[in-house]
Amino acid sequence: MESFELNNFWEQLKEELIKVLPESAHPWIHPLVASTYDKGVLTVVTGQIMGRDLLRRNHYHQILDTLKKVSKNEESDFVIIYDENAAKNLRKESEKIQKKVSEANIKEKAMENLSYMQSASNLNLKYKFENFVVGESNKAAYKITKSVAESPAVRYNPLFIYGNSGLGKTHLMQAIGHYTLFNKPKLKVKYTKTEDYVNDFISNSRNSKDQVDNMSKFNRKYTNIDIILIDDIQFIEGKKKTMDSIQHTFDSLYNKGKQIVITSDRVPKEIPNLTAALCSRFEMGLMVELTPPDVLTRFNILKKLATDSDLKFTDEALKYIAKNFTNNVRELEGAFNKVRAYAEIENEELSLEFAKSILKCDDTESELSFDKIIEVTAQFYDVDINDIKGTAKGQKTTIARHMSVYLSRELTNKSFTAIADFYNKKHTTIMYAYEKIKKDIATTPTLSAAVREIKQALKVI
Ligand code: ADP
Ligand code: MG
Repeated sequence: MESFELNNFWEQLKEELIKVLPESAHPWIHPLVASTYDKGVLTVVTGQIMGRDLLRRNHYHQILDTLKKVSKNEESDFVIIYDENAAKNLRKESEKIQKKVSEANIKEKAMENLSYMQSASNLNLKYKFENFVVGESNKAAYKITKSVAESPAVRYNPLFIYGNSGLGKTHLMQAIGHYTLFNKPKLKVKYTKTEDYVNDFISNSRNSKDQVDNMSKFNRKYTNIDIILIDDIQFIEGKKKTMDSIQHTFDSLYNKGKQIVITSDRVPKEIPNLTAALCSRFEMGLMVELTPPDVLTRFNILKKLATDSDLKFTDEALKYIAKNFTNNVRELEGAFNKVRAYAEIENEELSLEFAKSILKCDDTESELSFDKIIEVTAQFYDVDINDIKGTAKGQKTTIARHMSVYLSRELTNKSFTAIADFYNKKHTTIMYAYEKIKKDIATTPTLSAAVREIKQALKVI
């Protein structure tokens, strides 16, 4: 957690602790400062040995239960550490933050917003912009979503994010929530799954003596906000009343200049039974698509997951997973989590062999052919394939020839002899070309960029 966030979380937890713990424990609670909250473990520091001991001995379970409740994480744990200096420093730091916050009267708002969001939204802490790996397939969606978070209701309203399951729609959408919560805490954000909205609407619109009251509460809940995030709108049922309600919510927010963000696994026109009125509303802002990530992005996502965990791994293992799980990020993460779990249990490094032994993907993927490599390289340098294969001497052709040879060796399991046969050159000539590029890459950025681009065009990492 970032320090501001941790502070807020701790303040909220402290408030609860004061409620549940007997008064005699309060003097030990007040001086505690939160140090870290990592993987569900909250570490708090105190400058009082006695405070540490008493809280540990007499109130461990009450604190733990409260922590679990506030964090909504059953796996939570906490540690109290005695460290006079650290406590002093942390306190200074936290006072600085608190001061800033209260100066702008933000704290109150932030707390209000935080508890509001937590109770109403179940935002996943992982779904932040910082944790989103950007690549070709999601660059546009990322940029636009970020811009909506930075300047809501200015340019893209409504924002309609669509794409198949598991490509990061919910992640990006919730990132707007997190961003707003911590950078613009005065704004009220509400994240809602469409099915929850529908259920909420149905239960409140039921005939009862409180119906009018319930409906006006319901309307306030969804329209008295600055940013609404509605996830998976394709689940809107074909009921006229529900559609009317969504339309009412939409219009009321839109007319007040509030930001609306919607996700869907398909474009509005393909959502069954969607009223024409709603369809045209969803289409009137910006629609942006998420497509399946390319192999490089998949690799980068895995690299982030692997680096963030304490696992030892090799890039080869990650490349293997990236190559074999192509459809969406959820599957990719699933495969990674599986090998990670086994690697941890067996205390093994995540090597290529290990990944293969667990995932057992069909590895008969056809190897890149020399023809394909020469074709893409020729295209890149804008020279003729026959010139590369022949003896033409121009500078561009020579580099293209060397590059093509280099890649033929790097990207296939073929021997120099096989490559020499293909190019109809001497074995030593081929080795020279290979070594030359290999050496020059280290010192010539244009050359390493060329390798990267050609590899990308060949769809390899
Ligand atoms: P969707 O809502 O489109 O079905 P999600 O947003 O739930 O997909 O994403 C599925 C999983 O993949 C989540 O765990 C999410 O964090 C992860 N994910 C998707 N795209 C990315 C990305 N570009 N970088 C990091 N993680 C991602
Ligand atoms: Mg989703």
